[in-house]
Amino acid sequence: MRIAVVGGGAAGFFGAIQAARQNPQAQVVILEALAAPLTKVRISGGGRCNVTHHCFDPLLLSQHYPRGSGPLRGLFQRFQPKDVLAWFAAEGVALKTEADGRIFPESDQSATIVRALVQAAQRAGVQIQTQHKVQAVQRQGSEWVVTWQGGGLRCDRVLLATGGSPQGYAMAQRLGHQILSPVPALFTLQMADPDLRALAGITVPQARLKWLDEPLRGPERKHREQMGPLLITHWGISGPAVLRLSSWLARSLHQCHYRGRVQVNWLANWSREQLHQRCQVLRQQVARKSLGAYRPALDLPQRLWRYLLAAAHIPPNRRWAELSQQELERLLAHLTAQVHTVTGRGVFKEEFVTCGGIPWSEVDSRTMQSRVCPGLYLAGEILDMDGLTGGFNLQAAWTTGWVAGQALGATDHG
Ligand SMILES: Cc1cc2nc3c(=O)[nH]c(=O)nc-3n(C[C@H](O)[C@H](O)[C@H](O)COP(=O)(O)OP(=O)(O)OC[C@H]3O[C@@H](n4cnc5c(N)ncnc54)[C@H](O)[C@@H]3O)c2cc1C
Repeated sequence: MRIAVVGGGAAGFFGAIQAARQNPQAQVVILEALAAPLTKVRISGGGRCNVTHHCFDPLLLSQHYPRGSGPLRGLFQRFQPKDVLAWFAAEGVALKTEADGRIFPESDQSATIVRALVQAAQRAGVQIQTQHKVQAVQRQGSEWVVTWQGGGLRCDRVLLATGGSPQGYAMAQRLGHQILSPVPALFTLQMADPDLRALAGITVPQARLKWLDEPLRGPERKHREQMGPLLITHWGISGPAVLRLSSWLARSLHQCHYRGRVQVNWLANWSREQLHQRCQVLRQQVARKSLGAYRPALDLPQRLWRYLLAAAHIPPNRRWAELSQQELERLLAHLTAQVHTVTGRGVFKEEFVTCGGIPWSEVDSRTMQSRVCPGLYLAGEILDMDGLTGGFNLQAAWTTGWVAGQALGATDHG
C-alpha cells in the first residue's frame, strides 16, 4: 500500500509514523512544501514547544477547545496527553510539567521534539520529501494522484494535513469539502485608553473580562466572561484571561472587526460586597492615611491603583476618612467593572491558531476519513478545531494525526 501525507507538520508526522508502524509493508511519504519539516513545532511555545497539557481526563481536556470539543472528547479516549508523554518517553525525550500544567521538553528546546519526530519517522521507514509544494490531489479510479510542480505520485490513500494553509483548504474544496471561513483565535486586544497603555508591564493575578457588545453568536454568548491573570501591554491587554476571551469569541470578535467594549474587573478574587466592606474598614482603620498611599488589596499593583483613583476622579491625597459615599461607589465601579474601548486585535507571538476549516460533519472521527471523499484522511488544524493556549493545539494535532495514522495503515477498509 502507498500512502501520501501532504504537510509535514505535527499532525502529518504523527499520521505518517503511526501508519508506517501499523503497516510496515506500506510505503509512506511525507510531502512538505517548505525546505524543512515541522517549522511550526520549531517556533512553538517561544522556541520551547509546549507539547501538551497536564490534563488526563478526556472530558475535562475537551473543554479547552472552543471548536471541535465534541469529536475530540471521543478521540482523547484513544490518544491523549498521557499517551503523548509515553510516546516521547519511548523516543528518549523527557518532558516536564510546569506549575500551570503546560508540558515542555526538559531541554526547553523545540529542536528536541523536532529531532525525535524526524528520527522516529526515518526509523519507521517514512520518506520525507521537502520542497514539495503539493498543487493538486485528485482521484483517478481506485487511485489518488498527488502532484507538485515538476512531479507527482500515485497512491492508495492520502492524508491531508496542511494546517491553516490556504492551498490546503483549496485542495479540500476541490475534493468537495466545505471550508468554514478561517479567522484568527488566540490574540491580544488593543485598547483605546493611553493612560492604561502607559502601565505596560503591570500584571494582575486574577481579572475578569466581560465582552459587552453584540454581535455574539449563541454558543459564544455563554463564554463572554473569562477570568485569569492579565498583563497590560504597550498596545492594550494580554495574558491568559484575554487569550481565553479571544479564543472563545473568535468569530464574534471577527464579525465586529475587533472593536467594541470590554468590562474589566481588576480584582476578580474579591466580590464587590467584600471590597465594599474592606473600604469601609479602611475608612476607620487607616483614616488619616491618603488613598494614594494605601490600597485596599495587595494584589492590586500600586501604579494601577493610582490609575484607578484618577479614573474615578479621586485625588490621591484624599484621606481614607474623607472618602465620600459617592466617591466610594465610583471607585468600586472602576475596580470591579471598568469599561474600556477595544480598538483592534493584537498578536500573541507565542502561539497563533485559526478557527475554521473543514467541518466535523464531513469527517468520520473514528478514523479521520473524509465522509465526502473515501480514501482521503484529514488531521490537524485543517479541521474546524482549535484550543486555548497551553499545549492544547499541538495535542489536537497529535491525537487526530495518530488516529488517522492507525486507520491509514489498517488493511481492512478502503
Ligand atoms: C508561533 C506559534 C507558536 C505556537 N506554539 C504552540 C505551542 O507551544 N503549543 C501548542 O499546542 N500549539 C502551538 N501553536 C499551534 C500549533 O503549532 C498548531 O496547532 C499545530 O502546528 C498544527 O499542526 P498541523 O500539523 O495541523 O499544521 P502545521 O504545523 O501548520 O503543518 C502543516 C504543514 O503543511 C505544510 N503545507 C501547507 N501547504 C502545503 C502544500 N500545499 N504542500 C505541502 N505541504 C504543505 C506546511 O508547510 C506545514 O509544514 C503555535 C503556533 C504558532 C504559529
